[in-house]
Amino acid sequence: MSKPVSQSASGVAPGGLFPPSGRRVKVLLPLPLAGAYDYRLPDDLPARPGAFVRVPLASREMIGVLWDDPPTPETAETRVPDEKLREVEAVLPVPPLPEANRRFADWIAAYTLAPPGAVLRMAMSVPQALEAPRTRTVYALADRPPEIRATPARARVIAFLQDGPALPAAELAREAGVTPGVVRGLADAGVLAPLQAREAPDWPDPDPARPGPDLSPAQRAAADDLTAKARAGGFSATLIDGVTGSGKTEVYFEAIAAALQAGRQVLVLLPEIALGAQWLERFAARFGAPPAEWHSDLTPAQRRMTWRAVAEGRVRALVGARSALHLPFPELGLIVVDEEHDQSYKQEDGVIYHARDMAVVRGHIGDFPVVLASATPSLETVVNCEAGRYDRIDLPERHGGADLPGIEIVDLRKHPPPRQAWIAPPLRDALAACLAAGEQALLFLNRRGYAPLTLCRACGHRLECPNCSAWLVEHRFSRRLECHHCGHWIPAPKLCPECGAEDQLAPCGPGVERLAEEAAALFPDARMEIATSDTLMGPLAAAAFVDRMASGETNLVIGTQIVAKGYHFPLLTLVGVVDADLGLAGGDLRAGERTFQLLNQVAGRAGRAGRPGRVLLQTANPDAPVLQAIAAGDRDGFLAAESEARARGGWPPFGRLAALIVSGPDERAVEETAKALARTAPAAEGLRVLGPAPPPLALLRGRHRRRLLLKADRALSVQKALRDWLARVKPPSSVRVAVDVDPYSFL
Ligand code: ADP
Ligand code: ZN
Repeated sequence: MSKPVSQSASGVAPGGLFPPSGRRVKVLLPLPLAGAYDYRLPDDLPARPGAFVRVPLASREMIGVLWDDPPTPETAETRVPDEKLREVEAVLPVPPLPEANRRFADWIAAYTLAPPGAVLRMAMSVPQALEAPRTRTVYALADRPPEIRATPARARVIAFLQDGPALPAAELAREAGVTPGVVRGLADAGVLAPLQAREAPDWPDPDPARPGPDLSPAQRAAADDLTAKARAGGFSATLIDGVTGSGKTEVYFEAIAAALQAGRQVLVLLPEIALGAQWLERFAARFGAPPAEWHSDLTPAQRRMTWRAVAEGRVRALVGARSALHLPFPELGLIVVDEEHDQSYKQEDGVIYHARDMAVVRGHIGDFPVVLASATPSLETVVNCEAGRYDRIDLPERHGGADLPGIEIVDLRKHPPPRQAWIAPPLRDALAACLAAGEQALLFLNRRGYAPLTLCRACGHRLECPNCSAWLVEHRFSRRLECHHCGHWIPAPKLCPECGAEDQLAPCGPGVERLAEEAAALFPDARMEIATSDTLMGPLAAAAFVDRMASGETNLVIGTQIVAKGYHFPLLTLVGVVDADLGLAGGDLRAGERTFQLLNQVAGRAGRAGRPGRVLLQTANPDAPVLQAIAAGDRDGFLAAESEARARGGWPPFGRLAALIVSGPDERAVEETAKALARTAPAAEGLRVLGPAPPPLALLRGRHRRRLLLKADRALSVQKALRDWLARVKPPSSVRVAVDVDPYSFL
């Protein structure tokens, strides 16, 4: 059989016989290009701005978005002439990208200097979701079934469908305990009717009318403020500043209820979402249904269905990692950014942006309230509150009057641990007492693996990553040495790769695995477990860990920052911070602030329900201001001193910073580009360029790196300076210059 020959296959382009009709439009493609391209939209293809369209690009097809920019003007030299304009081929059957998302993408591109197409790609991360939604055939009882011969098997299918759901044939057969042939026979006879159903059930709507807990007067006042804002709409940014356990979550749940009741969609951003098992349960308990989720652990099918359901307004509440900000919510009415100070909100590759700041921008564009919550707000946010740009709500007390844990400093110079050990006597005694009392303890060390450095005792060689300026970290369980930057690993060697000496490789310093070894020797009866991103991979593992903690099955946890966040373990009364100095070592702009936040957060795990908590901080620098401030519970004093110092130096948030990261496989080309950038650096009042300098990670994933830092007065726009600057230097094609506006990492 031959197919009918279409006109285009015969060599005549469609429409080629007539003058082209239709209008010139801009289509933005999810590619790292300069901007949108012109296309012709045929008259018979009705499409609104935001429509997802299929267009030809070179010899392939791509999906893009009909953008709002006016098409390139008549006079522009770069304008593609009318007759060369290629045609939009199809409009996809999916709601258009909402206007707020389009303006948001433009805003991010302008602020971060990322190509608009690269920003759009974040909003179109699931191209499969744009295709017609998949359906499947399910069978229900026909309205007027014909008379047929009854058999016991047939009767079972009919009985099942009398109060069971319509199901695909195979599932129906399984449920009714019959062979698929029986179902087929009933369908052929017209007793069962085929229906097209969505591939997956809809998300059950969270019910905002369900009552929450009785709030304390301070919580009530906070909730009233936020619910009024959520009901009224209009932009506002509000910080809930409250110690861990003060009920920040309960309070913003009230705001969520109000926004849902007002018919709006709600987005909650969490750091480490994959580990939010407890949070998800609380949400489900409060609203009678779990929220939709958006994070890297979703399967492709879940991503596709979730994206689509958000776009169609079927998802009313979603909790996600920072990438959830780009989802196409048509009716977004509230964003909550929990743990707003968390560093993981900064996306460090691709489009480099800060999700907390962008959440506020999104609220501005969508004209709705944004709520930030933290026990240790970032200095940026605190300064925004002081300047009146953000509102602030204080929740100074733990719910139910639980005391904040007592924090003690253990001076390692006075109480040194034994050789090759890291638990000092005061911490050892505290652990012994805690375990003897039937309570739980957490030993915190922010280092995965067994030892951060392996050294040859014979020749002094240190085992380094060939692709990065970093040591290989020993992981004893997996018998590997791993690079924590690029993933490179080697089997743990017996011989020194440098001098060949046998059995001379010595681990230096502790990681959690080594600490666990020490703890097991000290407390052989402890029911211990290690909690890191290596052991808690994925939501199921995390949920199982939470269960073991809640039941007391585990009574000693050795963990990294993964356990510092958000968990509520009622039996946990002792936290030992093994190396409180760890975060201060790098010494970047925010080292003190970050250490304060992390240690405070870890400390907040202790004593959350009735029993008093105790926190021991081991340090060799007991006089460091940040440790003194933590021990004294003087957060505001600490913030004031930090703020002072930053204001004096003109550092953020009192001044502006942007980094250029020059990288490439060829060190000379990288060096030369960096120098060329230094030579052409902008010169202006209130603006300085520092560098180029090789950063600590001068080699990363096989690429050599140099950094330059632009420091400017707050009143200046770094974007304009950067744009002009970058236009003056054409790096060779092997060299990439990444722009990081408001850098948080200086590695
Ligand atoms: P935060 O988010 O500030 O750490 P949470 O909202 O998690 O605080 O509250 C800490 C604990 O106290 C949770 O178990 C929470 O359910 C409980 N809680 C807080 N406020 C109330 C309240 N008004 N009534 C009952 N339980 C509350
Ligand atoms: Zn590496």
